[in-house]
Amino acid sequence: MKPKIIAGNWKMQGSLQEITNLMREVCSNFDVLNSPSVQVIVFPSFVYLHTVHQLLQNSPVLLGAQNVNEHVAGAYTGEVAASMLKDMRCQFVILGHSERRHVYKESNELVAEKVQRALEVQLTPILCVGELLEDREKGRTEAVIQAQLQAVIDAVGYQAFQQCIIAYEPVWAIGTGLTATPEQAESVQAFIRKLLKQGGTELANKMSILYGGSVKPDNAASFLSVPGIDGVLIGGASLKAQSFVDICKVGIQS
Ligand code: PEP
Repeated sequence: MKPKIIAGNWKMQGSLQEITNLMREVCSNFDVLNSPSVQVIVFPSFVYLHTVHQLLQNSPVLLGAQNVNEHVAGAYTGEVAASMLKDMRCQFVILGHSERRHVYKESNELVAEKVQRALEVQLTPILCVGELLEDREKGRTEAVIQAQLQAVIDAVGYQAFQQCIIAYEPVWAIGTGLTATPEQAESVQAFIRKLLKQGGTELANKMSILYGGSVKPDNAASFLSVPGIDGVLIGGASLKAQSFVDICKVGIQS
């Protein structure tokens, strides 16, 4: 069985001291993190990547970044290139997070360009897709997700999805305390796999699809036990060592 992916997105939170303490406390649970049933990944802010990488020496936890620029290199003040993330030992990058799509108005096409840049340097994109509450209420969930995925398919082709992870994150469930129901998560992952079947059944079946949106230790089991959900992307609850480790433990039992 594939290990469950337990991914912690720390967003723009914490000080150097807080992030150091968090990482040390998480890493003190070596037996949990080292279980073959889970793959744990953390996503600090760019500026803490080096520190966190050093704290992760001798730990099975992997490192990822929260964003990347769509250009290879150049005069883009304040931006970070995919090759720089590789230099900092990142293996993953979150792309198309709802905060990027909605706060920073990233279009589906821009997200697709970023996916392309990540793949060019063998960074695994965690491609986030998900609908607004209004979309869900108007029955547009699948159309929104299809458009988000189609832009990436058009840019990189189906086969590139072998190197991607998809996270279904309903926008209305992120940081709100609301969650999708396990049935809603199951139905969306099935829809995503149906779309990817056009690139081959094996590709669609093997694709890792995560759920994200207010995952906490007490609801993690309900998502991690959904058929076709291969892990969770966690915001708020990943900032507390105990709750993050507790979710990892749920992953081991699921
Ligand atoms: C996220 O930021 O991807 C997320 C799922 O956040 P939260 O767990 O806080 O809802």
